[in-house]
Amino acid sequence: MNEFNFINSYLNNHQSVQHPEVVLGIGDDAAIVRPRLGYDWCFSTDMLIANRHFFAHEHPANIAHKILAVNLSDMAAMGATPRWILLSAALPELNLSWLDELTQTLFHLAQQHQVMLIGGDTTRGSLAFNITIAGELPANQALRRNQAKPDDDIWVSGQIGLAAAALQHHFKQIMLPDAILQTCENALLRPQPRVALGQALLPFAHAAIDISDGLLQDISHILDASCVGAVLHYENIPTLPYLKQLLPEAVLQKMVLAGGDDYELLFTAPKAHRHDIIEAAQRTNTPVSRIGTIHSQSNKCLCLDAQQQPILLTQKGYDHFA
Ligand code: ADP
Ligand code: MG
Repeated sequence: MNEFNFINSYLNNHQSVQHPEVVLGIGDDAAIVRPRLGYDWCFSTDMLIANRHFFAHEHPANIAHKILAVNLSDMAAMGATPRWILLSAALPELNLSWLDELTQTLFHLAQQHQVMLIGGDTTRGSLAFNITIAGELPANQALRRNQAKPDDDIWVSGQIGLAAAALQHHFKQIMLPDAILQTCENALLRPQPRVALGQALLPFAHAAIDISDGLLQDISHILDASCVGAVLHYENIPTLPYLKQLLPEAVLQKMVLAGGDDYELLFTAPKAHRHDIIEAAQRTNTPVSRIGTIHSQSNKCLCLDAQQQPILLTQKGYDHFA
């Protein structure tokens, strides 16, 4: 098998999603997509490197899920409908059964979200992937980071800190019992991008971001861009209840507030839309929690514990170059 067999037999022939606006998909020097009137396209790209973003020995199905899920999550955070992806892969070898597992899961998740693979690049190298994703949005409707307003509620989807707990278990910082480990590992390896929620929030939310590097760090991007501040109530930030029983409070606080890899949505919306948000969450089967309020004091973020005391952390999240 060579590069071209791989492209033809594993990529081109396995995909079931076809979109009418794709004039030309895999096979030429470039793909062609025809824009629809009244829509914006939004683009994002995420690179995942073996042993940095995933373990090289991880099951290929989990790798495939994660490389696409993190890109879908970026579309979710814009409120966009994901439509097309480009996949670049650096592979140490063409291992057929490994590639079979990888592409099956990739196309399965792609099918779930109706995204079409329209091109990419394949090269020999140490294991790494890059997916570029493009989505569609009604013109000028995107959920941008710079739109948070004073008095907005701050919301978060799902439960936070589970992926970080799985990682800490792996690095032997904590010990999770099997059943809990499974739940946390599932959050780390198979994050569920909140695509439907993102789209349902379009009419109601002001600003949104997906939590990839740590809740405090990611909310600070919204605060910076919007020139506002925030008060968060730690007790209202949902996590796995069992972790509260198991872990010392300070350890759990760090995981929830600075852990990262959650791929949940953090968004702000006017108080007047509380009911709409809850309805949107129910409609899309996504749990959401109200965790704080935006205020006008630029860039200040205060996180209060149950006794209304500020929680002070030295690190707000993950930084590749810190
Ligand atoms: P070029 O030499 O012009 O870059 P390639 O030989 O790299 O073309 O790719 C041939 C076709 O296969 C192109 O349409 C490209 O988009 C597609 N392709 C290559 N690798 C991938 C991949 N990993 N995923 C999807 N499409 C791919
Ligand atoms: Mg190429």
